[in-house]
This record gives sequence, structure tokens and C-alpha cells, in this order.
Amino acid sequence: MIGVVASAVVGLVLVAVLVVFDVGLVLQAYERSASSTLAAVAIGTAAALGTVLAFAWYRSRVGRLGGTARRVLGWAGIAWSGLFVIAFFWTHPRHRDEFSTPLEVAVVSYCLIVVLVAVCLLPVAMLGLARPTNHGTRDRIRVWKVDDDEAYFVAYCDCGWVGTAHDATDLEAQDKAFRDARDHGTNVAPEVEHPLG
Ligand SMILES: [Zn+2]
Repeated sequence: MIGVVASAVVGLVLVAVLVVFDVGLVLQAYERSASSTLAAVAIGTAAALGTVLAFAWYRSRVGRLGGTARRVLGWAGIAWSGLFVIAFFWTHPRHRDEFSTPLEVAVVSYCLIVVLVAVCLLPVAMLGLARPTNHGTRDRIRVWKVDDDEAYFVAYCDCGWVGTAHDATDLEAQDKAFRDARDHGTNVAPEVEHPLG
């Protein structure tokens, strides 16, 4: 618990330093050229809000998307994360007296807003993980065979509950997953599903 609080404090301090640094950079650019800086901040902000909305949309739809769409969006998310890290390091370790181009101002605005939104959402996400989910009697429980590098059977419920993963090399893995499912509730799908195709 102390570790969690300590890392939260360190994280908040880092974010505060980042905010001060970025706002300073934008203000400095603003003094040199007010109009191009404002336009760059507006573009960066719009792109960041678009990203946040796209992510929210993905979260709300992820259960209903087909396998291909989910894979494509998953790779898009990974590519975006990589670009974000590159953009972040490109704009941040800079000396204050360096001239900031409008492109850098736009990227800084973008990174700053994405980081701030992530920091604001973090407590919500952690609460969501910590809260036990409520199982409804109508929630369907399915047994999945996940054919990853190492295949495994796992029971999964609409309420968000996930059972233990049983390594498919164990001959009773499927039975064990079904046992987990029946321990969790009564509405168990009879067939094994293959979520990864
Ligand atoms: Zn459930």
C-alpha cells in the first residue's frame, strides 16, 4: 500500500513537472509567434481529443467487433503507442532556449493532453479493477479455448469474471474450465468457443 502511494506521488510530481515544462515551452513559442502557436495548440488539442474519443469508442465496442477488426485496431493501437513514445521523446528532452517550431508545439500540446487525460482516468480504471463485479443470473458463461503460443482453456462470464487459465496440454483442462464456469453460475454455454478464430 505504501508502495502504491509512493509511486502515485512520484507519478504526480513527474506529471506536474511535465505540465510546467510544456506550458513554459508553449508560452515561449507564443512570445515568438502568437498566431502560429495558437493554431498549433488548437491542432494538437483537437488531435488529442480525437484520440481520446477513438479510444472510448473502441472500449465501448470491443465486445461486438469481429476478430479481424479487433486485430487491425489492436495493431493500430500498438503503432499509435510507438509513435506517441517517439513524439514524446522528440519534443521533451530539449533546452529551454531552443526555438520551438509550430509542429513541436502541436506535438507537445497533443502529448500533454493525452497524458493529462490518462492521469485523470487512472483512478477510475483502478477503481473498476478493484471493485468486485456483480454476476447477474442472465449472464452467460463461456469456456474459451485460446490458441495462443501455448493453448489454454479458460471460463469467461459476461459480468467480467474470468476463471483460471488451464494449460491445454493437461488432458482435463477443458473439464476444469467447465467446472470453474459451473462454480461461477448456471448459464453455461455447452460448446467451447474459439475467440481467436
Ligand atoms: Zn458472472
